[in-house]
Amino acid sequence: VRHQLKLQRLTNNLKEANERLTLLAMLDPLTGAHNRRHFLEIMENELPRMKRHKHPLSLIIMDIDNFKNINDTYGHDIGDLVIIEIIRISTSMLRQNDVLGRMGGEEFTILLPETTLEEAHLIANRLCSEIAQASVQTPDSAITFTVSCGLGKMEEDDVKPEQTIKRADIALYQAKRNGRNRVVAFDNKS
Ligand code: GH3
Ligand code: MG
Ligand code: MG
Repeated sequence: VRHQLKLQRLTNNLKEANERLTLLAMLDPLTGAHNRRHFLEIMENELPRMKRHKHPLSLIIMDIDNFKNINDTYGHDIGDLVIIEIIRISTSMLRQNDVLGRMGGEEFTILLPETTLEEAHLIANRLCSEIAQASVQTPDSAITFTVSCGLGKMEEDDVKPEQTIKRADIALYQAKRNGRNRVVAFDNKS
């Protein structure tokens, strides 16, 4: 019986360790956001669900404005603090079913199930203005920062996540060109 109990305990430990590893492989260590690979996997799974139920699904791509300047002026560690603060604010504003991903260095994606492009626009506007009001303390002063957001929605005839991402990306590019610290939604007509 003692051996059995010991074996059971070891098995449980192993199971827990495996679960921790799986989670680590899915999450970005700096921010706790889903990493690119896992975020794409979630989008891939949402695609058929969205088509089956005909529910709207929107995507925000958020990119920090002039982030290179922040790193160059205050150093990489302060840059990291800015990223962490932006993600803290975003996470606190999102709903249970929203999914936050880190696509690359300073670029984040937010998948909003059951959300129209118009609703996503309101959410992204709120995110943008909350982030613009936040600050991070450096040894000398408190610094502020902004983000730009591009919005796209998943279309019925999309076959892969990259199509939705492409739309949001085009909108993001426009937001940058229009002066940053703003939200632009992808428009079929432009
Ligand atoms: P834009 O407004 O057009 O987005 O300009 P930007 O300076 O933000 O864009 P750019 O692509 O020129 O620079 C992004 C910088 O982000 C360069 C890279 O060193 C920095 N970066 C990427 N990942 C991290 C990170 O994890 N930590 C820090 N501190 N910096 C990062
Ligand atoms: Mg940037
Ligand atoms: Mg970028």
